[in-house]
Amino acid sequence: MAEVLIIGGGLGGLHAAMLLQELGVGYQLLEGSDRLGGRILSGTVGAAESPPGGAYDLGPAWFWPAFQRRMPALVTRMGLTARPQHTAGALMWEEAPGSLMRIESGAPTDGSMRVDGGLGALVDAMAMDLDAGRIHRGARVVAMRVVGRGVEVETVDNSGAGSTHLAPLVITALPLRLLAQTIHLDPDPGPGVLAAWAGVPTWMAAQAKVVVVYESPFWREDGLSGEARSRVGPLVEIHDATPPGGLAALTGFVGWPPEVREQVGDRLADAVVDQLTGLFGPRAATPLAVLRKDWARDPLLATDDDAPLMTHPRYGGHPGPAGAWDGLLLLAGAEAAPESGGYMEGALEASSLAVDTVREH
Ligand SMILES: Cc1cc2nc3c(=O)[nH]c(=O)nc-3n(C[C@H](O)[C@H](O)[C@H](O)COP(=O)(O)OP(=O)(O)OC[C@H]3O[C@@H](n4cnc5c(N)ncnc54)[C@H](O)[C@@H]3O)c2cc1C
Repeated sequence: MAEVLIIGGGLGGLHAAMLLQELGVGYQLLEGSDRLGGRILSGTVGAAESPPGGAYDLGPAWFWPAFQRRMPALVTRMGLTARPQHTAGALMWEEAPGSLMRIESGAPTDGSMRVDGGLGALVDAMAMDLDAGRIHRGARVVAMRVVGRGVEVETVDNSGAGSTHLAPLVITALPLRLLAQTIHLDPDPGPGVLAAWAGVPTWMAAQAKVVVVYESPFWREDGLSGEARSRVGPLVEIHDATPPGGLAALTGFVGWPPEVREQVGDRLADAVVDQLTGLFGPRAATPLAVLRKDWARDPLLATDDDAPLMTHPRYGGHPGPAGAWDGLLLLAGAEAAPESGGYMEGALEASSLAVDTVREH
């Protein structure tokens, strides 16, 4: 078989590449940005490998072995160590400005596992196992058309220069909404199909995450877990993100919607540090660093439709490509997974299913 094209170098795309490599099927992977990992992004402070320092997840941080099997297996296979989210200690509850409660039991994130070195270490390990000559960064796909029994794929690079690639089969490993709204498909993949894909929300695309790095996890000395929930904000959900042997950190999801975050701009970091000081005491006022990532403003993840913050949607009901695209286009991003849609486990699930189809091709 001629070489399969994979679009997207996030977890799903890298996993598809890994599985194709194992099968001995040639592939080329086109990634629109200059880095691999997609929603997986670990920011570093100091030397990541040796203390003092650390890698801190600005995208996903957890997987759940109690009900996921692919993520634990991949982490082990890549030679990485996972350990439970630190939850020992009391949780802080911020109901209204100045109204704090200390709750002694019941950490909501019990059973969540983090990867040592951050999930960026998983991406690096997967990329190391792949043939670097088959991974093309800065290759954003803008159009695909069916040509005979194959697909012609058009990309633009960072300078705006275009290229064309031909493949017998394409695996898209990016959110369905992004596929429908940012890549031109010719012909249409079937009546109502693009609208249906555009209606599938991209999990966590509206989120922004902040990591605040400290010399030591001082909150643990006060019997606090570092976990907090707030109805005030800016952070609504806070966790201890201290890596083993590295600098301590608190991390959280910003509850303000994207348009408010845009208005607040750089003042967000100060507002977060003020909030942490209110929750965890005066030692929180002097962080070593504040890292943040606003995913809603990433054009290779979110579109305008992703602005509303939401709870986890049900995935898996979308139609497949039909007509001339049937059998030529396989959907492998996390949002295409029938069971674990939206999660990293879903990216592995959907890419495994796509490669199963390639095997039968
Ligand atoms: C803040 C946050 C927290 C999260 N927390 C968790 C968690 O704790 N646990 C969990 O399981 N999941 C979590 N998730 C979801 C998890 O990140 C995703 O399920 C997973 O990373 C999706 O992988 P993917 O490969 O399907 O898609 P993506 O990671 O979105 O990868 C898609 C890739 O396609 C590229 N791309 C896009 N358009 C084009 C184009 N036109 N041409 C070429 N390339 C293109 C992108 O640059 C990207 O690299 C979180 C996500 C976020 C943002």
